[in-house]
Amino acid sequence: MNRREILKGLTVLPLTGAAPQAVLATAASAPAKHRDVFQELGIRTFINAAGTLTYMSGCIMREEVVEIIDRTAGHFAMIDEVQDKVGERIAQLVHSEAAMVTSGAFSAMTLGLAGVLTGLDVRKVEQLPHLEGTGMKSEVICQKTHNERYNHAFLNTGCRVVEVETIDDVEKAINEKTALLHFLNIVANQGQIKHEEWVALGKKHNIPTSIDIAADVPPVSNLWKFNEMGFDLVFISGGKAIRGPQSAGILMGKKDLIAAARLNSPPRGFTVARGHKVNKEEILGMYVALEKYLANDHDKEWKEWENRIAHIQNAVSGLKGITTKITIPELGNVTPVLTIKWDETLVKLTGRELRDRLRNGQPSIEAGFAGLPLYHYQAGSDSVDPAVAETLKGENLVRITAWMLQPGEEKIVARRVREELLTASV
Ligand SMILES: *Cc1c(COP(=O)(O)O)cnc(C)c1O
Repeated sequence: MNRREILKGLTVLPLTGAAPQAVLATAASAPAKHRDVFQELGIRTFINAAGTLTYMSGCIMREEVVEIIDRTAGHFAMIDEVQDKVGERIAQLVHSEAAMVTSGAFSAMTLGLAGVLTGLDVRKVEQLPHLEGTGMKSEVICQKTHNERYNHAFLNTGCRVVEVETIDDVEKAINEKTALLHFLNIVANQGQIKHEEWVALGKKHNIPTSIDIAADVPPVSNLWKFNEMGFDLVFISGGKAIRGPQSAGILMGKKDLIAAARLNSPPRGFTVARGHKVNKEEILGMYVALEKYLANDHDKEWKEWENRIAHIQNAVSGLKGITTKITIPELGNVTPVLTIKWDETLVKLTGRELRDRLRNGQPSIEAGFAGLPLYHYQAGSDSVDPAVAETLKGENLVRITAWMLQPGEEKIVARRVREELLTASV
């Protein structure tokens, strides 16, 4: 039911002066498939030309995922049985010993570490995050450049993070409290210690190793690469390129560690991760999303992203004062990125103003910005640390990705960006 229909419905209601309630009542009694809840609540929807950002709701689930969620929602099932069966299948797909669906990569980090700390000891599970006097370990080692904000997931277990730079540092930092050696793939080229060396250090000292690959497909091979390399725990997001539920992710790894992580996770209460609940529809949806992602024609999908980006580039590259460039990040969010820059004497617009105009136009469009890793951005706003925000303000550029566009939306993005640049041209 659209707004006009709601208003039409109103005219036949008695004039009690209670119009807002009448509107609500009319909307609420409409069949769900005819309701536009976004419109009812005044929530802006938009074309996502920025990327898989949590604050923009991440991704649009694959059609098959939505269908599976719909088809499974009408039945009860035991959560542990769903996790058992789904975990077994996912493990086969990603070449790991075991796997479970979590409420995101962040949750996988907390749960994976919780499992390392507690093993199958239920008393320890209930003691987390209080580690003192329990005999549990309490330190996670990672390279200084790999100590990103997402490591907060480890702090939730009561552990602290110890930073190192060289292999020698690791050898010195390891002690009886060391629980985990953690690696962040998105900055793999920024630390002195490489993947294989990290795994070898873990094996040498008999300490589990983990890797955060939350935003690291494509390439699809990353789904099994790090399991095969010997990492004991691998964390990935379900709601990024895999296009599963936004509130899902996967923890993959060694059988005993996954079993211990399961002990720390719902349906069991009284654990640090009770709040990491994933319902059966999402667990099954995550499984199907992964299956569909693996079955994708990845070359074809990549070509499609390139074509969309080229379409937008072609629409603006001839304009006076405009330069465009297409880049592909080496690690993390690997997809073609179009950077559009302009000469401020010829186009009177800042990057921020262009993004605002796209956001406030019809239809609304979110474009990306800056060259910083996407995970620096904070909820609901473009700004981050005051220092970073300062560097963003002055830049005459927008960055556009095409992987979260729905088919055909590249035409709208191309037209709107061109329009705004032309309007601001002197
Ligand atoms: C997105 C991301 C996370 C968090 O993943 P969620 O699935 O949203 O919990 C963790 N680490 C990195 C590097 C990420 O990009």
